[in-house]
Amino acid sequence: MAEAAAKLYQDGYLLNFNLLTLVIMEQAKDRHSLDRERSLQELQNVPEWDILITGGGATGLGIALDAAARGYKVLLTEQHDFAKGTSSRSTKLVHGGVRYLAQGNFGLVREALHERGLLLKNAPGLVEKQAFIIPCYSWWEVLKYLVGLILYDWMSGSYSFGRSGFLSPSRVLEELPGIRGKGLKGGVRYYDGKFDDARLALAIARTASAKGATLINYMRLTAFCKDLGKINGASLRDIETGLSYEVKAKVVINATGVYVDQVLRLDEAAVTPLVKPSQGVHIVLKSSFMKGNNALLIPTTVDGRVLFIVPWHGYLLAGTTDTPMDHTDLEPVALEKEIDFILGAAGQYLENIPQRKDILSVFAGLRPLAVIKGRAGATREMSRSHKLMTSSSGLVTITGGKWTTYRKMAADTVDMASSVAGLPSVPCQTAHILLEHTDRKSHLLHAAERISKKELEIVVSKAVHDEMARTVEDILARRLRILFLDAEKAIGLAADVAALMAKELNYDKLWERTQVKNFSELALGYLKK
Ligand SMILES: Cc1cc2nc3c(=O)[nH]c(=O)nc-3n(C[C@H](O)[C@H](O)[C@H](O)COP(=O)(O)OP(=O)(O)OC[C@H]3O[C@@H](n4cnc5c(N)ncnc54)[C@H](O)[C@@H]3O)c2cc1C
Repeated sequence: MAEAAAKLYQDGYLLNFNLLTLVIMEQAKDRHSLDRERSLQELQNVPEWDILITGGGATGLGIALDAAARGYKVLLTEQHDFAKGTSSRSTKLVHGGVRYLAQGNFGLVREALHERGLLLKNAPGLVEKQAFIIPCYSWWEVLKYLVGLILYDWMSGSYSFGRSGFLSPSRVLEELPGIRGKGLKGGVRYYDGKFDDARLALAIARTASAKGATLINYMRLTAFCKDLGKINGASLRDIETGLSYEVKAKVVINATGVYVDQVLRLDEAAVTPLVKPSQGVHIVLKSSFMKGNNALLIPTTVDGRVLFIVPWHGYLLAGTTDTPMDHTDLEPVALEKEIDFILGAAGQYLENIPQRKDILSVFAGLRPLAVIKGRAGATREMSRSHKLMTSSSGLVTITGGKWTTYRKMAADTVDMASSVAGLPSVPCQTAHILLEHTDRKSHLLHAAERISKKELEIVVSKAVHDEMARTVEDILARRLRILFLDAEKAIGLAADVAALMAKELNYDKLWERTQVKNFSELALGYLKK
């Protein structure tokens, strides 16, 4: 850009070099913001995209960043808000997966540990190191976990987050105030990463936009356009206005998480399902149940899983479950038995046993687990690695995997898609791209007892103008994470947020009232007392 400006100046087209530099800088700054109007115009003006991506979760957004950084012309559309699906409902761990190590899946663990290291480097302020402690009630457990976790450290190589080690029983109680000490032989401490999933998704989206990608939310892919059996574009429907658009693209990528089979069916009616959704639930409790900064890993629950209790934004997140589901839903509902299971497992470890009335929020998400041919049964045994394929129509589909490995999944997908589309071959650039994160301040607001009008005003204005927030839910669920932390508090803020948004977006009182009503109804689903 600066070189182009200098050339124009030398050629006499520009009298004031500084002025042009300013204009360019202003334009560059603008692209760091997500602007729906601008995206809509680009969507209509670009005659043909190199790559069209469907799905604005971790996977799709990662692909948009990767492809834009390689210089391809990229459009991404998401049917709801960015990260509305699974990508805002994780356990918030950036991890190699201690559990997969126990299953002997070394390749997956090594890859994830590498990605964990890159994420810490590329997303400062959004990803942080987190100490986990496993309480042990026999010497055999101490030995088993210590050896396993020393191996985990060793596998992370130069990206190690800290050394695992043994803790005496008194040290465990000191480091995890609030847990039961009876029968404790000691504990093992290890380190992994923790993050804010929806905010990382927005950071990736803003970085992709800054690299030239066009991203638009509330825009659903409804059909494919084809020529001689090959996909060459798609029909999109604007969920806000009901208007339809047709766009042309050299290749289309299906990155719709648990929805990949539905999108595949738009291409070909009879497809063998790629995904088996598996529901995972979390409950949120006050931090007083387990004080301090350390997380607890319960190594074996009654169903043979691990359960985490993780300090997050001033609260405690406890989960998760693994329940095979037959249907998909953007707002999956936690089953009573899943909530009871988490309360029961946590209650066995905490002095102060949490009850239903203590739950501040409950949220559920659907894992897009890749179906392994010929393998039926529990979803916890199904593949956690990702699945990438190209249909005979040229549609590229990516699913499975996990948040931690989104960058690697994106790299593999763009390699495949660029070859399908015959695009010039450019190597992946994302290992060293710093992710745009401006919203450090609002992090402090999650745990605040009271949020002042002024603070809310700043957050709302930023969310609307820089982060494409369109509804009260977008702000209270994914820009601020309050719905996920304390649903009652979120309901209490809805009217103020609606009023501030209406002012910023020029909407009327009816819009405000409808927003408050819709949000309050949705938030009731997070209150499971
Ligand atoms: C309970 C739980 C805990 C987890 N914990 C962790 C963890 O701690 N660490 C970790 O690394 N991973 C974790 N994961 C895994 C991780 O969250 C997922 O692998 C990841 O979020 C999947 O992202 P995705 O983009 O593939 O799917 P999604 O986030 O679901 O995104 C797909 C998007 O596609 C959109 N879409 C669907 N159809 C259309 C259409 N026709 N047009 C436009 N858009 C469409 C959807 O609205 C959705 O937003 C967890 C998963 C679950 C369920």
